[in-house]
Amino acid sequence: MISEEEARKKILETVRSLPSRRLSISRALDCFAAEDYFARLPQPAFDNSAMDGYAVVANSCARGKRLRVTAEQPAGRDKQLRISPGEAIRIFTGAPMPQGADAIVMQEDVTRGGDEIVINTDVKGGEFIRRRACDLSEGQRILAKGERLRAATIALLASQGIDDVTVGGEVNAAILSTGDELVKPGEKLDPGQIYESNSALLRALLHRCGAAVNLVEHCRDERGSLSKAIKRGMKNHILIISGGVSVGEHDLVKDALRELGAEVDIWRVAIKPGKPFLFGSLLAKSPYSAGETPAGPTGSPQDESIQSADKLPAPRTCFIFGLPGNPVSAFVTFLQFVRPAILKMMGAINLDLPQLPARLTVDLTNQGDRAHYIRGKLEHGKFSPVGRQESHALFGLSQSNALLRLGLGQSLRAGEIVDVQIWD
Ligand code: AMP
Ligand code: MG
Repeated sequence: MISEEEARKKILETVRSLPSRRLSISRALDCFAAEDYFARLPQPAFDNSAMDGYAVVANSCARGKRLRVTAEQPAGRDKQLRISPGEAIRIFTGAPMPQGADAIVMQEDVTRGGDEIVINTDVKGGEFIRRRACDLSEGQRILAKGERLRAATIALLASQGIDDVTVGGEVNAAILSTGDELVKPGEKLDPGQIYESNSALLRALLHRCGAAVNLVEHCRDERGSLSKAIKRGMKNHILIISGGVSVGEHDLVKDALRELGAEVDIWRVAIKPGKPFLFGSLLAKSPYSAGETPAGPTGSPQDESIQSADKLPAPRTCFIFGLPGNPVSAFVTFLQFVRPAILKMMGAINLDLPQLPARLTVDLTNQGDRAHYIRGKLEHGKFSPVGRQESHALFGLSQSNALLRLGLGQSLRAGEIVDVQIWD
């Protein structure tokens, strides 16, 4: 059993960033920039009005003063107007400032009569003008390599006239759930059987990370079917296998992987829940070889293929993550080990879950030999454990929104401020 830190280090040393690609900004949400971007234009690009109103010369204005309206400047076309003291130009939000004008009077603050206005307010120079470059200077960095493209980042790129971006590669993922006891949701449950929920969990988590789920299969605890399913899954950048990585006679994953020539770098990590976690890699000799049907059925009625694998780019190495079947273990190990690996492959700089400080509401002690991830609720700056802290307790997990890591031998007192990981 290795420590959680060693496991994470090993995984992150092993996986590599994928080649970058160019994408339209409309498809780049949550991708990671593969290069730095700099402002081509200052923002705003020219002095303009922040209001619908009148452009004026401030020192020729006073409350009760009458001004002659000489022209109109709409947004969208610079009429190159000029203004003299005692005059006003009708102007609209975003319209370029006329030469000589140094303030805008809001239309609500004037009384208009014919081609004259009376000013009903004091006017200060510079008022309601958006100055060129006050938000952003030309050449300033607007997006750093490895940064995530958020809605506002995409808007900023668009405002610079940029319509496509170079971002990190897309991670293609396959999910393989194993277990004789599992039944696909929607089907009839016989005594002793349970519904298969990890595929749904992993698909959602992968989606959240920005990975493409290309194949979702279920496989019985049977060596032959397992090997065939792994061979299909390994055509993706990553294959996530749920269940079958523990030490029972029905836990066949490790041996099946070794038989297929996989390097198993990690098996069993000092993390609770999630101890049986496995990480390895399989080298594809030639992609889609030996007459294998991409994403085909395994003979189980629970198989589900999302998209034909022959449309995928052909990765040479598939990274395998074997997650324990218990849903909370699968969840925690995904977030601690799979998520950072995917983000690194996608070109991200920050691989950590966001953390927030919170006041702990209970005493907590970890006397075990593994780092313990407590599922809890972060609300109004306080963190409280929720539900049963057991690896099968999916309801408890569903009520939580944050994880608190209790290191080996660590004791925390109610009232202490702790950092918790937010995953919601
Ligand atoms: P395993 O890791 O295969 O030994 O499974 C551990 C526990 O997780 C068992 O109680 C399984 O029934 C349960 N389990 C395994 N896979 C899944 C799954 N895909 N969905 C829900 N529960 C599962
Ligand atoms: Mg099992």
